Amino acid sequence: MTRAPGQWTADNETRPAPAPLDRVQALVNTVDIEIAQDRLARVDDARPWLIQQHLLGGDAPLTEADLAGLREIREALRALLVHNTGGAPPGGRDLTVLRQVADAGSARAVIDDDGHVQLRAVGGSMLERLAELLVIIRDAQRDGSWSRLKACANDDCRWVFWDQSRNRGGSWCDMAVCGNRLKNRDFRARHHAER
Ligand SMILES: [Zn+2]
Repeated sequence: MTRAPGQWTADNETRPAPAPLDRVQALVNTVDIEIAQDRLARVDDARPWLIQQHLLGGDAPLTEADLAGLREIREALRALLVHNTGGAPPGGRDLTVLRQVADAGSARAVIDDDGHVQLRAVGGSMLERLAELLVIIRDAQRDGSWSRLKACANDDCRWVFWDQSRNRGGSWCDMAVCGNRLKNRDFRARHHAER
């Protein structure tokens, strides 16, 4: 599929997670591995998106090094979601990266107009704002919705999708694309093995 400049695969998410977990999905889906399109590759692309996602204060700096760190954080989050699909648990490096995020940020309670208590990040830097995603993950782990957020089991894809199936058994971002491709590959492998 070709798309116009400025168009990103995640702008038309076909299996979106409910808010606020969609913020985690949005961050991890900033890269489309199959077409090598990465919204976090360049400061010019990343900055407006991060501000819109409340992951960067409007006047906070954003360097190439910040972006490189964020891409590493993104992949550490993806490792958690691969585990949700039945893959290996997150590795030591992934946990170290996520613990650095936890150590860098803090959250404070705010009361919204309906009287609901929200936890908001303190500070405007990217690393500080990421604390909000940790709060969202923590809430989702508590209410059980976390296990429905998954990374596609196709290693060449790893797109993050919301698994709405009753038994939470979904493994593919798109059964017609990734599911069938893997099935065909397995079939071919078996076929060759039998010959
Ligand atoms: Zn997929």
